[in-house]
Amino acid sequence: MSDLVQQSAALRRAHERQRRELPVLGTELCGQPPARAWDAPQGAATAPAAAPELDDGDAGPMTDAFGRRIEYLRISVTDKCNLRCVYCMPEEGLPWLRRSQILDYEEIHQIVRVMAAMGLHRIRITGGEPLVRKELPALIRMLASVPGIEDIALSTNGVLLAPMAEALREAGVQRVNLSLDSLRPERVDALARRHGSFDRIMAGFEAAERVGFQPLKVNVVVMRGRNDDELADFAAMTRERPWHVRFIEVMPVGENLDISARQYVPAAEMLGRVRALGELRPVTGPAGNGPATYFAFPDAPGTVGVITPMSHNYCDRCNRMRLTADGQLRPCLFGDLQTNLRDPLRRGESIEPWIRRTLHVKPERHGLVRGSAQGSGGLRALSEVGG
Ligand code: SAM
Ligand code: SF4
Repeated sequence: MSDLVQQSAALRRAHERQRRELPVLGTELCGQPPARAWDAPQGAATAPAAAPELDDGDAGPMTDAFGRRIEYLRISVTDKCNLRCVYCMPEEGLPWLRRSQILDYEEIHQIVRVMAAMGLHRIRITGGEPLVRKELPALIRMLASVPGIEDIALSTNGVLLAPMAEALREAGVQRVNLSLDSLRPERVDALARRHGSFDRIMAGFEAAERVGFQPLKVNVVVMRGRNDDELADFAAMTRERPWHVRFIEVMPVGENLDISARQYVPAAEMLGRVRALGELRPVTGPAGNGPATYFAFPDAPGTVGVITPMSHNYCDRCNRMRLTADGQLRPCLFGDLQTNLRDPLRRGESIEPWIRRTLHVKPERHGLVRGSAQGSGGLRALSEVGG
């Protein structure tokens, strides 16, 4: 026991030391709001001058200062999207990244190769809307061929999925998470602020089932007065279909503070309302090791999950880092920390020391506060960092 206490104190001291050293890492890995890096003119987003040295202890699997093993990377392939979900993105869009700022597929492949050699096993492709990026199956094929990568999943709004599902499956996508905030066509349009999306999303669901993406998870961001009257309808679907419906507590980002303040529904309330339909038992849930907690009705083929970033912090189980479309490695979805991997990579330098340093400064937990931009690190939308 005392060994464990000492070890944990040493890890925390190392973490503090790494945090104090941050300014030497360059302007990207520092306390700047990430949104500013997006806006920087080409070349002004300065890369660090010199790579940090690796310590003797810096080898082997990726373990952070709190003992969490990191083996999962969420890769955002674009900041753009064909929808404008009310809780995610402003209706007029955001200042998009320029093409030259975005990692090309070979650059993403190189980063994944380096990280796979450090213990990365699982990848999720996200965005923005990943299916708006051209030739996505080509990237999937490249990543699926990297030794050590065992699982590739995709998060999508489903609008463009139907014609691409087969190619994505053949390329190596095993699982998909589909976002769907309502089962009513006119409401989907209103929440996504784009007309005519519902039928295309439904076609995406059918295609996902047809080509055999397993398990199929459905993400529902729950908002009071907007879609919380559909909790029971979504939950009832899990009695008919082998789908894993996950109700998500809305998280505050720069553009949705009002929604986060006034329309937030805590997961306990969501589950209470679903329980009115019948007995719900805790279950292990589908593969994927995500942050959701799962329940099921007796004999139901599907499950009901809740994702509770606001009411119950699950950061102690976090196993991931994030790579933004312009090559910033983020140790946490929220907060200010990110490392520019793109510029050292383009200069032909080793990126492993930068990955290790990012790992060492991974925060113990996020500091989100309902209805407040505090803790979100200047993010305007989750689409900026790949939610
Ligand atoms: N466009 C794809 C999609 O919608 O599935 C992938 C990117 S999207 C940012 C990933 C997930 O984040 C979606 O399930 C979306 O509902 C969720 N999301 C976006 N903004 C959110 C917020 N403020 N709070 C909670 N979840 C959010
Ligand atoms: Fe686009 Fe996904 Fe954000 Fe909706 S949640 S606006 S689909 S990135």
